Amino acid sequence: MTERWDLTGLYENFSSDSFVRDRERMNELLAELEQWQPEKKPDLRDSAEDFVRLLQDYYETYSKLMAYSQLRLSVDARNEKALKIIEQLEKESARLTAPRVEFQKWLSDLENWEDIVNSSKLLQDHHFFLKELVEKSSYLLSPEEETLAAQLKRTGSSAWTKLQQKLTSTLMIEVELEGEAKELPLSEVRNLAHKQDPEVRKAGYQAELETYPEIEESVAAALNGIKGEVITLTDRRGYQSPLAETLQGSRLEEETLKTMLAAMEDYLPEFRKYYRAKARVLGHEGGLPFYDLFAPLGEVEMEFSYSQARDFIIENISQFSQEMADLYRRTFEEYWIDAEPRDGKRGGAFCYNINPIKESRILSNFTGSFSDMTTLAHELGHAYHGYCLRQESILNTSYPMPLAETASIFSETVITNAAITEADSEQTFAILENKISQAGQVIVDIYSRFLFEDRLFAEREQAALSVEELKDFMMEAQKEAYGEGLDHDNLHPYMWLNKPHYYSADSNYYNFPYAFGLLFGLGVYSLARERGEEFLEEYNNLLTATGKNKAAEVAALVDIDLNSRGFWDNSLAVICEDIDEFVRLAEGRTAN
Ligand SMILES: [Zn+2]
Repeated sequence: MTERWDLTGLYENFSSDSFVRDRERMNELLAELEQWQPEKKPDLRDSAEDFVRLLQDYYETYSKLMAYSQLRLSVDARNEKALKIIEQLEKESARLTAPRVEFQKWLSDLENWEDIVNSSKLLQDHHFFLKELVEKSSYLLSPEEETLAAQLKRTGSSAWTKLQQKLTSTLMIEVELEGEAKELPLSEVRNLAHKQDPEVRKAGYQAELETYPEIEESVAAALNGIKGEVITLTDRRGYQSPLAETLQGSRLEEETLKTMLAAMEDYLPEFRKYYRAKARVLGHEGGLPFYDLFAPLGEVEMEFSYSQARDFIIENISQFSQEMADLYRRTFEEYWIDAEPRDGKRGGAFCYNINPIKESRILSNFTGSFSDMTTLAHELGHAYHGYCLRQESILNTSYPMPLAETASIFSETVITNAAITEADSEQTFAILENKISQAGQVIVDIYSRFLFEDRLFAEREQAALSVEELKDFMMEAQKEAYGEGLDHDNLHPYMWLNKPHYYSADSNYYNFPYAFGLLFGLGVYSLARERGEEFLEEYNNLLTATGKNKAAEVAALVDIDLNSRGFWDNSLAVICEDIDEFVRLAEGRTAN
């Protein structure tokens, strides 16, 4: 079995006839979209249908070209051809903005737009897509203002984003390891937090904190610049707050966010038990110092060859769903996965769903560890999500961030739990530790990030914030979220500086969607366990609906009420079961 993917389902190569033809087709479609004018057709319905059809064709062509180019680049960072084509595609696709805004304005100015939509099968199929365009149009500025705002962004927030990236990716930190002074980039120093040796973890943390002052003023200026611009623009657009804009983009109600956050807050003490137990094992008296937050405990020592991982995943997922197992088997058999790490290939893992060819591609860096196996299960879940959307129009396939992780978390949870049933107590301890540690990041740390960002926006509205203020706010947010779980003398005052999530003007509050994703995925998993086979059809419907409904409507398909406390409590209770088991196993233990 080869461990590389086959991309010929997309194109043979960059110079193949079909690739060249699609490049031309894309530009023809852009030209047609630019020429679209409602006056051209006497019938309003025909005009709307024309536009939707063009847009569909355009996205199908564009996403195929983009998928191929990005996939090629992801396994070959030095592929200059791919890089150049991606840049060209991005630049050309900017031409879409003007016709899209024009269509959006035209549609929302029609008094009877809903009647027109209801009079056509094609438009009806895109009801949600069109409705969202109408809803968002009231937040559009005039075309001149939109253009100016976009131009100024390039020298404003986008430039600040790049500055933060540049400063944090080029910062070199001197750290003493095994008696030897070494200069390491920030990312490597932050990775020391996962090392077995406690001295190394602590040295990394201390060196990191000591070096930040070199760039803190500049990064704080970037943060103030970005958040200031967001406040100005969201206000001008008529949003109540930056949070209101984020919620609209996430298709979430404010009530849902409030309910979820309240549930998270109430469960924080449970997570603190985990942090205290972990601290005890590592020999700390009180709470866990920040530098030991990611310390590994125990050893999983479960190795998988690639085919063992495949068989383990398919075997266990088939006990939930034959349809899932069939799709998973297909991804292996038809070479949708690029599994092996190699020179020039990017790190981590992802799944790319390619709607126009009804297939997916998965990239992983599989070396046989337990987490490599569960990562594969995670990405296969994403592929199943793509499979459920295969019959949908491409305009109905883009789902918001909070719903993006439903299928992957479901799949990963099934497989991790299956592994635990086969593990001995030492392995179980290590697997649980890892699982809860990740959940803690998504619940407790995300909670602190939400508190921080919310306060940041509130204060930034009055004036720019100093480095000292940012550090204070961050530490206060950490104290509130982690409570006695963390050692208050060893917090991390600079978490605002190194997390890229705070530095994108287009995605504010890039934190709570992670918590939503985990808790929603776990909630759906619990339902599947409860209801068994009959639930599967509902589950498929849920995934199919993610690109054309509000989150609450998607959840309602499986009788989940996102505004009810009970739902969130149940998901959190699933994590608490793990915590209780972990605390029990941790008793009497000391670090390896
Ligand atoms: Zn994922």
